[in-house]
Amino acid sequence: MSTIAEIAAQLQGYDPQALSAEDVGEFLARLVAPVDETESVGVFDALGRVLAEDLVSPISVPPHDNSAMDGFALAGAQLVRGALQLEVVGTALAGKAWQGEVRSGQCVKIMTGAIMPAGLDTVVPQEFTKTLADGRVEVPAGLLQPGDNRRHKGEDLMEGRPALHAGERLGPAACGLIASLGIAQVPVRRRLRVAYFSTGDEILSLGEPPREGAVYDSNRYTVHGLLTRLGCEVIDLGVVRDEPAKLEQAFRDAAARADAIITSGGVSVGEADFTKAMMKKLGDVAFWRIAMRPGRPMAVGKIGESVLFGLPGNPVAVMVTFLAFVRPALLRMMGARVTAPVYLKAKSVEAMRKKPGRTEYQRGTVVRTEDGALEVRTTGNQGSGVLSSMVQANGLIVLHHDQGNVAPGELVDVMMFDGAV
Ligand code: AMP
Ligand code: MG
Repeated sequence: MSTIAEIAAQLQGYDPQALSAEDVGEFLARLVAPVDETESVGVFDALGRVLAEDLVSPISVPPHDNSAMDGFALAGAQLVRGALQLEVVGTALAGKAWQGEVRSGQCVKIMTGAIMPAGLDTVVPQEFTKTLADGRVEVPAGLLQPGDNRRHKGEDLMEGRPALHAGERLGPAACGLIASLGIAQVPVRRRLRVAYFSTGDEILSLGEPPREGAVYDSNRYTVHGLLTRLGCEVIDLGVVRDEPAKLEQAFRDAAARADAIITSGGVSVGEADFTKAMMKKLGDVAFWRIAMRPGRPMAVGKIGESVLFGLPGNPVAVMVTFLAFVRPALLRMMGARVTAPVYLKAKSVEAMRKKPGRTEYQRGTVVRTEDGALEVRTTGNQGSGVLSSMVQANGLIVLHHDQGNVAPGELVDVMMFDGAV
């Protein structure tokens, strides 16, 4: 695995004092590697897990050509003759093949999902037909093409082909698909273990009485939530006092138990405390100033085999740096395929001041207007410690590195929270 210095040497113009958000993503992608261990879990337990191998379809889904509608199955070649009057010679029910021969001028009543009788390739939906006095059904002219309303064997999944690829994060649809293949056990990567703690002598744990100059710890709760949504196994190491012995014990404990360590606080430039010194002593760590807002200071590296993410202390900066950098890195460690973030474009209802040369993340709410357009407005106070505006937001407006001021009505990119926050 590469050291900080080795990765730094691979990156053009790497400057730890002035990294762009893009540089950070690239650096972290080189720093982390997926966990090796895999396990086998039942389909219910596979939700949110990362598939460890390609899943090859042992069967075809559907297993036979079948009807997509309730109606009458017929040979489509006859349709060139115009309107048809067909004798009904039998009924094909779902789950049971209809045996027998069907000649020209005949059809079979068929239910949705029933196997197509031999030689028939087209289904006329019931509602388009008329039953004549003699029991025959009339199919109007010009309504159907041969092959209509027939589902093909294997049109969903074909036997022997990969149905899902390694690296897929299994959602409800994937779990259903796995079950549709008759597969009961799923090979997944083991869950990522992530330890986290908050630092700072002014940080109170819940249960402690308020005291002047102190604030309650919120970062452990946001980080816990973000990690849980990601499907990580979390190890909560509490609030750690700013004493070398306490910090050393917390870092060693975290490194021994977890694949990744997330801390908050103590990494800004002016910090007088021992957090940075301890990171330096125990690990291979870089201290960055990132051209972004909120955020800016961040420490990154390895302590033992564990990857360290030393996040800033401000509560919103923690969430933003997590979403922008830590989350994609953890997904890589989980073995998931990571794609470029998908942004939604929305019209800004307001002007936003923005300096080119840094990436800014504004808390925003996207709404759909009556004419179907997407509009976004910021959620008030954008201070990096203000969590209430984060609570109101349903996404982060991403003002990119080179972007300048935003005029009202201009389209901006929004990273929607969806299930992440
Ligand atoms: P720092 O990065 O340590 O300079 O902290 C920046 C700001 O974030 C300070 O106002 C801290 O009080 C605040 N802060 C740091 N850690 C936490 C935490 N765990 N919960 C809430 N606020 C915090
Ligand atoms: Mg501090």
